[in-house]
Amino acid sequence: MDMEQAKIPQATAKRLPLYYRFLNNLHSQGKLRVSSKELSEAVKVDSATIRRDFSYFGALGKKGYGYNVEYLLSFFRKTLDQDETTRVALIGVGNLGTAFLNYNFTKNNNTKIEIAFDANQERVGTEVGGVRVEHIDQLEEKIGDLSVAILTVPASAAQGITDRLVEAGVSGILNFTPARINVPSHIRVHHIDLAIELQALVYFLKHYPLNEPETEEDQ
Ligand code: ATP
Repeated sequence: MDMEQAKIPQATAKRLPLYYRFLNNLHSQGKLRVSSKELSEAVKVDSATIRRDFSYFGALGKKGYGYNVEYLLSFFRKTLDQDETTRVALIGVGNLGTAFLNYNFTKNNNTKIEIAFDANQERVGTEVGGVRVEHIDQLEEKIGDLSVAILTVPASAAQGITDRLVEAGVSGILNFTPARINVPSHIRVHHIDLAIELQALVYFLKHYPLNEPETEEDQ
């Protein structure tokens, strides 16, 4: 994101890819405009939040018209650097890493896993999802100028690999391991622990049940 957008609150910035994906779908269906209510139902963010988010980047919806899809899309494309593909490295070609390599990230946004690393000799030299797997010993040599890495190694290997990634110039890490990793303050880490997310969902279902949807008879 460029400097102009630096003032967007982080919570808003985190929702931008969500908006972008939905608007992209609308655009490919030939839709010209969208209301905040429609958006709200699709992305599950309340419409007051959407209006506030959009006001940060000067998109003011017109009453009875909604938002211009084309305008929003071109804004998001610019803001999210969608015109430029971000090349990403993946470390750890196990079950999860293999799934990511086979998953077509470019469908919804312009990121592309360009190289993968693993310690297992049997995987090194193979291609998974069209991406070549290199030996982890060659990380520094082969990572080039990539600045983003996905970490899908066992927890025990996470910190050591992280230190090497930082040293090699990576500035963003998407950490899928259960380990909390330490990085210098200029490095951004987003942590996604799938087991914890699932556990949290189950806990919330049990302790914070949502209201039943209203039926026709209720109205
Ligand atoms: P997953 O956890 O993704 O389901 P898995 O259960 O198949 O994978 P793990 O033991 O979690 O296997 O390891 C994930 C991958 O990370 C494996 O392919 C393994 O060879 C690789 N790996 C383990 N240690 C390292 C390391 N130090 N550097 C790079 N890759 C590693």
